[in-house]
Amino acid sequence: MPKTEVVVERKKIEIRRNDTVKVIAGKDKGKQGRVLRVFPDANKLLVEHVMMVRKHVKANPPRVKGGIAEQESRIALSNVMVVCSSCNRPVRIGHDVKGDQSVRVCRRCGTDLDTNRKK
Ligand SMILES: [Zn+2]
Repeated sequence: MPKTEVVVERKKIEIRRNDTVKVIAGKDKGKQGRVLRVFPDANKLLVEHVMMVRKHVKANPPRVKGGIAEQESRIALSNVMVVCSSCNRPVRIGHDVKGDQSVRVCRRCGTDLDTNRKK
């Protein structure tokens, strides 16, 4: 009997680090921010200044001061959309082939979202 490999299908995440995204649902709906981290396994993102939570931090001298700190918490991928740099609004993402590379493009205006983006 040949071994069968179980492949867990995972949708490819279209959002990458440093993209600008807009929150379209949830408590921070309407906010816009930069993607700090992507968690592909959880389908979640960390977005700058979005989903801030207050965290009680225990002091750990000399480096860590105790108190209440504000920090981002993860937001579900489905609650955000990428903001196109030229349309300046949340858009859906398409794909295009440039040379031998596949790039992400804005479905509305066709702007290439990968070339010339801030790293
Ligand atoms: Zn666009």
